Amino acid sequence: MSKKLTDRRRNLLREIQHLADKAIFGTLSESYRTCGRAGCHCQGPGPKHGPHLHVSYRGDEGKTTGYYVPKAAEQTVREGVAAWQRLQQHLRKLAELNQARTLRQAREERSR
Ligand SMILES: [Zn+2]
Repeated sequence: MSKKLTDRRRNLLREIQHLADKAIFGTLSESYRTCGRAGCHCQGPGPKHGPHLHVSYRGDEGKTTGYYVPKAAEQTVREGVAAWQRLQQHLRKLAELNQARTLRQAREERSR
C-alpha cells in the first residue's frame, strides 16, 4: 500500500475513533408544547413553551421511539448527532479504502 494511502487510512481511523466516542443516534426535532397550568400564556394565543429538543430513532424491534433532551444536554446531543452523520461518511470512505486495498492485494498475489 502506498504511503499516502496508509496515512489517509490512519487519519480516517483516528477521526472515526474520535467521532464514535461522542456519536448519538437519532433524528433531532424541536417542538413547542402547552402545559397543564391553568391560565398559563401557552393556553391562549401567546407563545407556547419551547423549543424542546427531541430525539427520535428506530429501536431494536423497528418501532420508532424517542426522548426529550434536558436543556443542559442539548449542545452535547446536537454535537453527538452531527458526529454520527460524519461517522457514517467516514466509515464509507474507509470501506472504499479497504476495498481498494483488498483488490490490490489480490492482483499482487496473482502476479507473483
Ligand atoms: Zn404553559
